[in-house]
Amino acid sequence: MALMTLATSPEEQLRAEVAELRTRLEEAEDTLHAIRSGEVDALMLETADGPQIFTLQGLDAESNRFRGEILAQVSDSVIAVDADQRVTYLNAAAERQYRVRASDALGRPLSEIYTRRWPCAEAEAATWSALREHGEWRGEIFHRTPDGREIAVDTSLTALRDASGAPAGCVGVFRDITEQERTQEALRESEQRFRIMADGLPLIVWVHDAQGKSQFVNQPFCEYFGVTPQQVAGSNWQPLVHPDDLAAYAGEFSACVRDRRPFHAEVRARRFDGEWRWLESRAQPRFSASGEFLGMVGSSPDITERKQSETNLRESEERTQLAIEATAVGIWEWNVLTNAIRWDAQMFSFYGIPPTANGFVHYSDWSGAVLPEDLPENERILQDTVRRGAQNRREFRIRRRDDGAVRYIESVETVRANAQGETECVVGTNLDVTERKTAEIRLRQAVVALSDADRRKDEFLATLAHELRNPLAPIRNGLQLMKMTGVQSAALEQARSMMERQLTQMVRLIDDLMDVSRISRGNIELRKEHVPFTAVVGSAVEASRPLIERMGHELTVTFPQQPLVVDADMTRLAQVFQNLLNNAAKYSDPGGYIQLNVERQGSDVVVTVKDTGIGIAADQLPRIFEMFTQGDRSLEMSQGGLGIGLTLVKRLVEMHGGRVEAGSEGPGKGSEFVVRLPIVVEASKPQESGGAAEHGVRSSHRILVVDDNRDGADSLAAMLKLMGNDTRTAYDGQEGVDAAGEFRPDVIVLDIGLPKLNGYEACRRIREQPGGKGVVLIAITGWGQDEDRRRSRVAGFDHHMVKPVDPQALMNLLAGLDAGPTRWQ
Ligand code: ADP
Repeated sequence: MALMTLATSPEEQLRAEVAELRTRLEEAEDTLHAIRSGEVDALMLETADGPQIFTLQGLDAESNRFRGEILAQVSDSVIAVDADQRVTYLNAAAERQYRVRASDALGRPLSEIYTRRWPCAEAEAATWSALREHGEWRGEIFHRTPDGREIAVDTSLTALRDASGAPAGCVGVFRDITEQERTQEALRESEQRFRIMADGLPLIVWVHDAQGKSQFVNQPFCEYFGVTPQQVAGSNWQPLVHPDDLAAYAGEFSACVRDRRPFHAEVRARRFDGEWRWLESRAQPRFSASGEFLGMVGSSPDITERKQSETNLRESEERTQLAIEATAVGIWEWNVLTNAIRWDAQMFSFYGIPPTANGFVHYSDWSGAVLPEDLPENERILQDTVRRGAQNRREFRIRRRDDGAVRYIESVETVRANAQGETECVVGTNLDVTERKTAEIRLRQAVVALSDADRRKDEFLATLAHELRNPLAPIRNGLQLMKMTGVQSAALEQARSMMERQLTQMVRLIDDLMDVSRISRGNIELRKEHVPFTAVVGSAVEASRPLIERMGHELTVTFPQQPLVVDADMTRLAQVFQNLLNNAAKYSDPGGYIQLNVERQGSDVVVTVKDTGIGIAADQLPRIFEMFTQGDRSLEMSQGGLGIGLTLVKRLVEMHGGRVEAGSEGPGKGSEFVVRLPIVVEASKPQESGGAAEHGVRSSHRILVVDDNRDGADSLAAMLKLMGNDTRTAYDGQEGVDAAGEFRPDVIVLDIGLPKLNGYEACRRIREQPGGKGVVLIAITGWGQDEDRRRSRVAGFDHHMVKPVDPQALMNLLAGLDAGPTRWQ
């Protein structure tokens, strides 16, 4: 260990000096001997004052002076004794070291100058025998001085002999190494303390030399790795470190030596039980005063648990991050004081902005990304969040910085207060809801498109019904005409009545179509009045009877005893039961049995229409009232139908405050429809039945028929003529006005949709003609809605009839004109 290394140069120096001294003494002895034996008379010697010639006279004295000068200059103590151990010489250094004066010491026993600290006869004897035998003795001994000090002395003794060669004492050179010893002792102690301390530490401590070889390891080190200090001494760590970490370890070692900085590395090392553990090695490199690298002192705590929890934490952070990425949630934190916003990675990716090193952006980075039209509202909410410490949710659009794409963001935020309770931060999340938003928008567009299509469909159905009605008018008139003129051939009459039936069926279909489209558009108004329920059912039965009879079904109708009154539009409610009866007839094999049962249940009237027909499959039942729903067509092809009859039934019943249900045991097991309606409890006067005129009523009016459908105009005119009226026809609006002036009719049947002048305008002009005010003007139109009726009334019409005009209804109207003041119908 470098800590224990001692510099040895002063010692070497001392030895060199002593050797030098010895050489010079020997030279001096040789010279003395030569002079004594008469070989030389004089000699020249180098002295401190320069070279001097010494003669034989006074030689001994010179010799002694010479010796004295040399020895006085030596820094080590030099003491010479004679054979009796009495001091014969003591130099200046010895005077200082033993605190005696040379003059006092001379002739005194050496033991008065110093004694050995541990007197030992054997040691003394050994010293003297060594001197005798070898002429010198060297060793380290402790001297105790007369004043009680103890000093460590590096001793070199040389035996002296007289001219005859007999022992004449010895000369000793004594170097005081007490300080040096003390330093070494201190070093030893500090090393000891270091060891004790290092062994007591609960972590691995080690000392490396410059080559990375172990100089010291503490007890915990040995226990941890299961080694002895001897096994480790002088070896490097290589066998202990995980092969994958060796390169990094060595790299850090040389880098820290090169950069003269502390060593820090996390490596895996094999513990005594063979387990690879994480150690965090930190070490301080040591350098000599000259800057030479001496090695390192380091410690290596086991950080496996910390590593594990770090890994766990990182994994959990990664998982959180993954979860955040998966749910596409970005997290932000806005410092309201500095306007700095911290974003997580997700936020940067939302906004298409490259992540900043510290994860911070400025408020303007955010506000600049928000679409300008969305910004004011968002800043208002944000301010509200700050002011009230509220939690808010808002939505805005951003334009991404990288690809310029517009994205929808949903933001949820709350405030975080500082220690003083002031709002310092607003923290929140961003969620990219673009996909959801676009789906919503698409859905909305689809709904708009659908309802648009639905509206157009309703309009189309209304137009279709209207257009289909137009050609029916002349056909109906023609058939009526044929009937009135009387058909000779039975075959022709059969064909005519067949055509009439088919026409009726067609009119019914078109009426249904018209009605259902009007109901769907909310364009129907009920003309409710208190009507006896028997009248409603009677009307329906009457209308359905031809079909029922044709199919050969048996119909039974039952009523309760007491009269029941409902608040209803008689025609519409009759339509309900007519539809149900028609269906019962249509969907039963010929010869079936139909039952219509009316009963009172509390404040309701309950009507059951039951048949023995084809029945309804269970899966059909829930959808049976939906528009255009039809059962298995193969069974009922012959009957025709649009699949709207039951839709009408349901809507009309509901408009009357009731409800309808369908039931069937299944295919082939018949069906049952139950209609429930509220009844009017108080007795009410039954409605008059409307005074139907008899067929063949005659009238004698001057009637102008104006219709651009020539067939329609001509056939109606012909029919009216047959009734005894004087008729004229016109085929457009202008012609109609002109004809009115010329012909001066008292009744004008005027189509509304006319070329040149429409019916309303023609009506107004006719009214303006002389005598025009008194003319009865009847509007004939495919449009029978309340609004159409209102418009025709405003234009000046007295009556409004829907195409195809029911001849019977027209006849009744004309009969009414004869009877009294006209009544607008
Ligand atoms: P349409 O008769 O024009 O098809 P509806 O709305 O009146 O339209 O009836 C819808 C469907 O319900 C019919 O196609 C038929 O399949 C079924 N349905 C209606 N009434 C009966 C019934 N009394 N018996 C069996 N099936 C019926």
